Amino acid sequence: MSEHIPKRLREAIERRAGRRCEYCLCPLDITTDPFAIEYILPVIRGGRTVSGNLALSCSTCNGHKYSHIQGYDSVSGQSVPLYHPRLHHWTEHFTWDADPIRLVGLSPIGRATIETLHLNRQRVVNLRHVLFLVGIHPPANTENLD
Ligand SMILES: [Zn+2]
Repeated sequence: MSEHIPKRLREAIERRAGRRCEYCLCPLDITTDPFAIEYILPVIRGGRTVSGNLALSCSTCNGHKYSHIQGYDSVSGQSVPLYHPRLHHWTEHFTWDADPIRLVGLSPIGRATIETLHLNRQRVVNLRHVLFLVGIHPPANTENLD
């Protein structure tokens, strides 16, 4: 269930995220995918409409996250929290492979989030490849996501 997000709050969230999905890092202004304001702690689990519980998310990441707050880490074999854009530091949990087209999890949280949200799905990998060829991937401001 989605709640109404006031326009000013949505704009502030888009600015804070650098106008990128805070999970797969797809740019809002280049994809045709509509973006959502995602409840990091879903409403169904008591999440509120406050800046600290909201993230900019492409609709595909948002759809895969759904009401999940945990995912499975195949290395440790454990259920772990998913990446929380307001509490976790992106660069502690994710990096790019050598290409750099695919995300690699650096931690159980990173690996479980990549798996649960399908962060290396073919369409987003294709987009990253094209963006890389024109020199705008990986994003220069990845460090600012922390
Ligand atoms: Zn995304």
